[in-house]
Amino acid sequence: MRDVVVIGGGPVGAFLAALLAERGLDVTVWEKRRTTPPSSRAIGVHPPALESFTRIDIAEQVVERAVEIRRGIARTGGRTLGSVSFARVSDRFPFVASLPQFVTQALVEGRLEALAPGALQKGVELLALDDVQPDRVRLHGRVDGVDVFEVARFVVGADGPRSAVRHLLGITASLQAYDAPFVMGDFRDDTGDGDDAVVHLESAGVVESFPLPAGRRRFVIRTEQAMARPTPETVAALIGQRIGITPDAATGTGVSAFATRRRMAERLVRGRVVLIGDAAHEISPIGGQGMNLGWLDADALAPLLVAGIERDRVDTAALETFEADRLKAAWRAARQAEANMSMGRPSSGLKKAARDFGFGLALASPAKHLLARTYAMSRG
Ligand SMILES: Cc1cc2nc3c(=O)[nH]c(=O)nc-3n(C[C@H](O)[C@H](O)[C@H](O)COP(=O)(O)OP(=O)(O)OC[C@H]3O[C@@H](n4cnc5c(N)ncnc54)[C@H](O)[C@@H]3O)c2cc1C
Repeated sequence: MRDVVVIGGGPVGAFLAALLAERGLDVTVWEKRRTTPPSSRAIGVHPPALESFTRIDIAEQVVERAVEIRRGIARTGGRTLGSVSFARVSDRFPFVASLPQFVTQALVEGRLEALAPGALQKGVELLALDDVQPDRVRLHGRVDGVDVFEVARFVVGADGPRSAVRHLLGITASLQAYDAPFVMGDFRDDTGDGDDAVVHLESAGVVESFPLPAGRRRFVIRTEQAMARPTPETVAALIGQRIGITPDAATGTGVSAFATRRRMAERLVRGRVVLIGDAAHEISPIGGQGMNLGWLDADALAPLLVAGIERDRVDTAALETFEADRLKAAWRAARQAEANMSMGRPSSGLKKAARDFGFGLALASPAKHLLARTYAMSRG
């Protein structure tokens, strides 16, 4: 019998497994994919997540490879409305580290492999949770058409927004689709904005831009309607129309359109099975907190699983507190993303003038420190 089987070897599941392996638990991860897609979805690693990475000794490697974003600037029509500094958000990591998701994922996977060789089993898909007993859970999976079975003291569903674990447990999730489509793309950085993140609040909609390693920059652009087939050319032209600097389309990668939604599981815990990451809460990427939330779920859950294995019992009260705390954090991040999306919608005339004025005022007041802490997930 395994101590813990984690379903889903994405950034969150792999991190939890590494935390548990580091604490000496017998952990296995079932991941249905054979390879990690090289698309760069998430990029921002926030200070609390960097703090949790120190527990498996990868924080330094992440920071070494990342760009340290120490300041965010708000602009409109080329005019600066104000800026926020991340200098006060954390003593140890006073910045947001910008690194493509697949690079961070490779570092987490590498650490897991060093701590527990072979623990990450690729190509294994969970099909059923056969037997949820008071003292164990029996799992049924399939690899290359062959059925496999495993028995574990605890199971963690880190299997993404369409979580099979969540469905198999019959846990419902509320879904809110927003009318806020975006496109994104990474280009050579010709903006001259260096390591700053810049939010361009333009009449036609927001353009967010973030530095990436190797002299590149991520652009995220609000569109009127969902773009059917964005190309580096169309996205570069759109950026040029909005901010006056057109990236070189020939350097464009990772161009894609994405819809925004919020999906929240009603429960995160059922007996010995727990949901974390996007399986528990999918939030809009605008604000860049989804993956970080998942890592913080893992960081909060790991000690509870270690204690559960040591004492061979489920501490129901502790898991209930975990569930309440993590759902609260997810709702806070979701509301933050909603505020970001609302701020970035197309706006003109008096409405835009009032928004820009309000924004300028907030960025000139002490409230900007709170904004910096909220954005960097360092509140409370
Ligand atoms: C465009 C975009 C930009 C984003 N930017 C940011 C950002 O800047 N910052 C941020 O914090 N977040 C961001 N996010 C969100 C972030 O990408 C997700 O929150 C993160 O990937 C969630 O990780 P996860 O491990 O929980 O789930 P996933 O990454 O979805 O991984 C789940 C894994 O489970 C596997 N799986 C699924 N079903 C099964 C099964 N039955 N059996 C076995 N394996 C299974 C899947 O193959 C997958 O590998 C962004 C998202 C998007 C779309």
